[in-house]
Amino acid sequence: MSDQPRVEIYTKTDCPYCEKATDLFDSKGIEYETYNVTDDDDRFEEMVERANGRKTAPEVFIDDELIGGWDDTSALNETGELDEKLGIAEDNDDGIVEHRKLVIAGTGIAGLTAAIYAGRSNNEPLVIEGDEPGGQLTLTTDVANYPGFPEGIGGPELVNNMKEQATQFGAELKNGIIESVDDSSRPFRVEMKDGDVYTADAVIAASGASARTLGIPGEDELMGYGLSTCATCDGAFFRGEDMLVVGGGDAAMEEATFLTKFADTVYIAHRREEFRAEDYWVDRVHEKVEDGEIEIMKNTELTEIHGSQEDGVDHVTLVENDKGHPTDRLDDPGTEEFDFDVGAVFFAIGHTPNTDYLEDTGVETDDDGYLKTNGGDGGNQTETDVSGIFGAGDVVDYHYQQAVTAAGMGSKAALDADEYLDDLERADSSGEEVEPAAADD
Ligand SMILES: Cc1cc2nc3c(=O)[nH]c(=O)nc-3n(C[C@H](O)[C@H](O)[C@H](O)COP(=O)(O)OP(=O)(O)OC[C@H]3O[C@@H](n4cnc5c(N)ncnc54)[C@H](O)[C@@H]3O)c2cc1C
Repeated sequence: MSDQPRVEIYTKTDCPYCEKATDLFDSKGIEYETYNVTDDDDRFEEMVERANGRKTAPEVFIDDELIGGWDDTSALNETGELDEKLGIAEDNDDGIVEHRKLVIAGTGIAGLTAAIYAGRSNNEPLVIEGDEPGGQLTLTTDVANYPGFPEGIGGPELVNNMKEQATQFGAELKNGIIESVDDSSRPFRVEMKDGDVYTADAVIAASGASARTLGIPGEDELMGYGLSTCATCDGAFFRGEDMLVVGGGDAAMEEATFLTKFADTVYIAHRREEFRAEDYWVDRVHEKVEDGEIEIMKNTELTEIHGSQEDGVDHVTLVENDKGHPTDRLDDPGTEEFDFDVGAVFFAIGHTPNTDYLEDTGVETDDDGYLKTNGGDGGNQTETDVSGIFGAGDVVDYHYQQAVTAAGMGSKAALDADEYLDDLERADSSGEEVEPAAADD
């Protein structure tokens, strides 16, 4: 056994965030012990006690110190503190690690598809994992609409296959989060949260979107203690409870359907009359309604979650108005406020595009923060306002937000970047000056 500290990870079966945690330690070459708490009440109680009452896996410990769940572990990794705790931090004076032709932000479906194409074009991409390695699709166990898999495929399996395919073609995957991109000169400076810096001739932003929360009372206190944004990760912890899913899109329908495996009854609170979800998912939910496993609360919004970290969620406060959007009509006599008993709450209310690291560049975003790209017909559809920075997947596409559309855009971005890099090489060898686009052009 080496001198490394003792790493212990409480896991669960079918827990994407547990896999992310073990993958992270694997990528660092760190040994660890795992304890699966599924169907093991003693281990579960032990985990809850050691994790100060938290009932969510994974829970990570280093030398008996509680690190926390995936979010906490990933946050420590971002700052480099995790490596310090593990005794593997490296000194790096100027921070510049190396120059790459192409850096890709994100290992979701868009980033990995871009990596496969860029690898095949000999652009040897460096692909940064971000705080959600594998992206959103790792949160689902059932991808039924990705072409080529008539029996469906699990999200983590699809992502792992893509990672393998990308590395086979020469892509390098790296844990870490991009803090900022500097486009004031060429090559771009890509700064990581842990202080490392890469220079790059081109960048593909495939950084996707993150789960939204409501900002209501009780949310911060109870996140991880009965409130979750990932039903597949945490649903099984609340077996036998009534559960509330908030949302009206595909993710809400899928999560509600999944939770019927564990819940006494699943309630869906949606602020409007009509769901936004595809007919396929709405039909599946209605089947469950017929079976008495799901109840739908239309024109209803969640305003407060009550409970404690010791005992979890106790009940919630909801408002209802049959004209829809009841929180916009709190003074309307038709708005009714009521308390409702549930043991767990799952948010499935959409996503915010991850673009903070591009804030100081000339890359334009729309009012909701989604990256703007050229679009249209012909080549260069994925280029942003900054020449050499391309965008792909959910960080650009606020409308389709599907794995297959993200993959399609990822391939386009890699092809556009390849053309850009070829032009750059030609200009370099002919001695022409390559104009950097000014940040605020
Ligand atoms: C529960 C759920 C179920 C779904 N089921 C389906 C389905 O069945 N079929 C389907 O087609 N679609 C499904 N989707 C939608 C699908 O997952 C997304 O459309 C797709 O994953 C988008 O891929 P992406 O690569 O654009 O972004 P994401 O998957 O969001 O990946 C973004 C990547 O960027 C990284 N990143 C973010 N910020 C930074 C940064 N600063 N530096 C470096 N990296 C960064 C993240 O860590 C992540 O790796 C589902 C989504 C959810 C949430």
